Amino acid sequence: MSRIPLISGNWKMNLNHFEAIQMVQKLSYELRNHDYDAVEVSVHPPYTDLRSIQTLIDADRMHFHLGAQNCHAESSGAFTGEVSPAMLQKLEVGFVIVGHSERRSLSGETNEIVAAKAKSVFAHGMVPIVCVGETLEERESGGAESVVETQVTGSLADLSKDQLSELVIAYEPVWAIGTGKTASAEDAQLMCAHIRSVVTAIHKPAGTKVRIQYGGSVNASNAVELMSMEDIDGALVGGASLEAASFARIVSFQDA
Ligand code: PEP
Repeated sequence: MSRIPLISGNWKMNLNHFEAIQMVQKLSYELRNHDYDAVEVSVHPPYTDLRSIQTLIDADRMHFHLGAQNCHAESSGAFTGEVSPAMLQKLEVGFVIVGHSERRSLSGETNEIVAAKAKSVFAHGMVPIVCVGETLEERESGGAESVVETQVTGSLADLSKDQLSELVIAYEPVWAIGTGKTASAEDAQLMCAHIRSVVTAIHKPAGTKVRIQYGGSVNASNAVELMSMEDIDGALVGGASLEAASFARIVSFQDA
């Protein structure tokens, strides 16, 4: 079963809409058509940039998917400051990151909240990228696998069998995010294989289809080895996605 790798750039709270336009134009210039033959690419700018980037992708027929970094689970309502999946759908967003560790730790997102968001993203015709990953203490105490397993089962609890196959899961060890410390390719592979076995146990066919990204200080130098691993189907990239040339080198990892 061949799964098309998905390389996603999570810009977090960086780049205003003018800077975002420049960034996407540069990225498009850096990439060649054949780069998209075997890889899908999504960019996840802040909400305020989405309309500008959507217009640019449309007008220049760029091959990127537009992504968002979060959304509310409800379609509309009295939720001051929130953005609904219905609004993202109107902007032709394809992928929505849910349950990023920064949202789990800074905004108190539980597995139940992440599950409701993932369900709602699918209900609005988009695909969630569900993030899971252990902290350093959890890894050092030997509990990484069970923590990640609980996150996976809890965060996917509301999805149908078909949705499980379409889903993207990002394994992002918290200690590797923005720290410059990457999990070894072998450790990342072991955890991604474990995640796949957890999905397989829920619905066997979904186990071979679900795409599992690795995230955590991915850069042009380590991407090739990480992506060569059997159960790693792409990357969720933070810092290195803010610079067009470095993100382009990750996207074209197969040329290395
Ligand atoms: C992320 O934000 O999901 C991430 C993995 O960040 P970084 O690549 O900077 O570690």
